[in-house]
Amino acid sequence: MKFGNGLAAALLMACAAHAGASTVVDGKALSDREQGANWLAYGRNYYEQRFSPLDQINRDNVSKLGLAWSMPLPEDRSLLSTPLVIDGVMYFTGSWSKTRAVEAATGKLLWEFDPESIKHAGDRLRIMWDSSRGLAYWKGTIVIATIDGRLIGLKAKTGEKIWSTQVTDKSKPLYISGHPKAFEGLVIVGDGGTEFGAARGVVKAYHVTTGKFAWQFFVVPGNPALGFEDEAQEMAAKTWTGKWWEHGGGGNVWNGFTYDPEFDQILIGTGNGSPWNRRVRSPEGGDNLFLCSIVALDAKTGKYKWHYQTVPGETWDYNSSMDMVLADLEIDQKKVKALMHAPKNGFFYVLDRSNGKLISAEKIAKVTWASHIDMETGRPVEVEGQRYEDKPTIVWPSPFGAHNWHAMSYSPQTGLAYIPKQELPGQFDDEGVKEATWKSPEFGADVAVDAGFGSNIPANVGTSSLLAWNPVTQKKAWEVQQTEFWNAGTMATGGELVFQGGITGDFSAFDAKTGEKLWNVNVGSGISAPPITFEVGGTQYVSLLVGWGGAATSLGGGTALAQFGWAHGAQKRQLLTFALGQNKEIPDVGDPVVAEPIVLPDFNIDEERAALGKKLYLRQCVICHGSGAVSGGYAPDLRATPMALSLPAFTAVVVDGAKISGGMPSYPEFSEDDLIGLQHYLRKRAKESKEEAARLEAATTK
Ligand code: CA
Repeated sequence: MKFGNGLAAALLMACAAHAGASTVVDGKALSDREQGANWLAYGRNYYEQRFSPLDQINRDNVSKLGLAWSMPLPEDRSLLSTPLVIDGVMYFTGSWSKTRAVEAATGKLLWEFDPESIKHAGDRLRIMWDSSRGLAYWKGTIVIATIDGRLIGLKAKTGEKIWSTQVTDKSKPLYISGHPKAFEGLVIVGDGGTEFGAARGVVKAYHVTTGKFAWQFFVVPGNPALGFEDEAQEMAAKTWTGKWWEHGGGGNVWNGFTYDPEFDQILIGTGNGSPWNRRVRSPEGGDNLFLCSIVALDAKTGKYKWHYQTVPGETWDYNSSMDMVLADLEIDQKKVKALMHAPKNGFFYVLDRSNGKLISAEKIAKVTWASHIDMETGRPVEVEGQRYEDKPTIVWPSPFGAHNWHAMSYSPQTGLAYIPKQELPGQFDDEGVKEATWKSPEFGADVAVDAGFGSNIPANVGTSSLLAWNPVTQKKAWEVQQTEFWNAGTMATGGELVFQGGITGDFSAFDAKTGEKLWNVNVGSGISAPPITFEVGGTQYVSLLVGWGGAATSLGGGTALAQFGWAHGAQKRQLLTFALGQNKEIPDVGDPVVAEPIVLPDFNIDEERAALGKKLYLRQCVICHGSGAVSGGYAPDLRATPMALSLPAFTAVVVDGAKISGGMPSYPEFSEDDLIGLQHYLRKRAKESKEEAARLEAATTK
């Protein structure tokens, strides 16, 4: 941020916006479930319910909801984050963690801060794009995190940088896409990178006001020969076999954090193993603690309190990084301080958070890896053959999960959790993967099993839905079917409404009790972010960032997502805010564009070169450009890019980094043969795609 005349103006504007109210965002404010004007934290307050008591917009009048203001964000791409609103000012992170403050009632920009993530990212651009899921606020300080692993404290009034701390080891392929979580004067953050190198998960807490280190907790144990950091590591090491530390072990906490004010504990939802394949990671088996677990840590010291592992010996990327929602439930006539959690693995868990004991767990989606959870042991009962030990295996859910980071909400009014559910099968084939010789990648993708990213994800193989789930009875209350396998987060309100956006660009409000759709608007582009609500000057508003992005649009992709036409650069991004009686037109952001693969009749595809190209594509390019070279919209579809046809142009971009300022990393180690291999692979995929489309058309017109 540049200072000068702009600073004084920004200060004045910020002061004006604050006139009349000055909320101190501390533990007391964050524990208050009654106030509705502010959205103070990622999940609104400490309880992570994403429930607002505001009821000005309700079942009876939601049909009169209309656009109050919009803010164009033409330079942004993925917009995944949850904005915060404090005393009439909205704060949000956009792509590359660019942070803005705007007047929440008008959308007028107050300040912006650009952490220049691309410049700092270096080789990290190979593994992480522009994702940022949110920010934290504590007593006038904002904390953001960047993909290059910095945690930055900003003055909320001006956007001025107070401190900056490098959280991750810069030599390792780690990034931060998650929201930092502020609690009781500290801020905690984890990292991602489980799939891209020998990663060892760790969470670190810092003092909010200074950025000074407070404590850390390792998710998996290191090499026992070097000694354990704490007793929890010693306990965890007993559940590992082989030389797991050489592969890092994984468990990276890239999303789930909940502070529990009633037990002064921070709950972390841990990641999957590195690599995915347990046979390689821990050859003699074992539960591999604390992978895929909820771990409760003492908030002041980071010391281990208890854990519950959702997937012992995980081998399918079924991490437990999803949100953990706190509520008081009455189960069997007993009041329970409960924690609700719907991780990737397809079960919905209710835990007693005083001790981590399992209360109940039931399937919310198609699940084939386990038949049920044994209530005596708290462990899943696995289905034989699903660990793909002797043959390629289809498993439900897919590595994208039955529920991913897209937030669920919980309404204490209806007693229901609202889950953005998704259904897609995964395929696993580890033939030829040898545990003795397998090596962790460095800034590239390799999970020691072929999980099908070389193939297109066709349309109509997956579905999604908005699922209303009763955590007490562990039964479905209602479900609204939706399309394809990706879904966006939800919000519940005191107006007995549930809000959710989705793949089709529809932003809707549903009756929280019945699921009846009561209001809908199409915003002209796929939605990946969850909505929020707040009140300024007696008016309730609903806000939503619109910017197609996230893992399914990048690493996923395929026709399943490409069919919607939210192609790279096709639609402009924006922030939309709605209120009753408003009727501004939704801005036109650009038409859908479905990539047209370029087929060159004279191009002779050399199968050997194409095979080399495929290998390189799967290690590096697939991370952004999509499964089977069919882009889900994050990055250009390489089957349709003329640039890839010319070797000099292709070399300039891929080897020399001609497009690095836009986020395309450089690969100086790629030889001419490598590039020619990629060209052959892309032409092969273009030809196959055309043939596939022709076959489908013939089948449907029969
Ligand atoms: Ca993962």
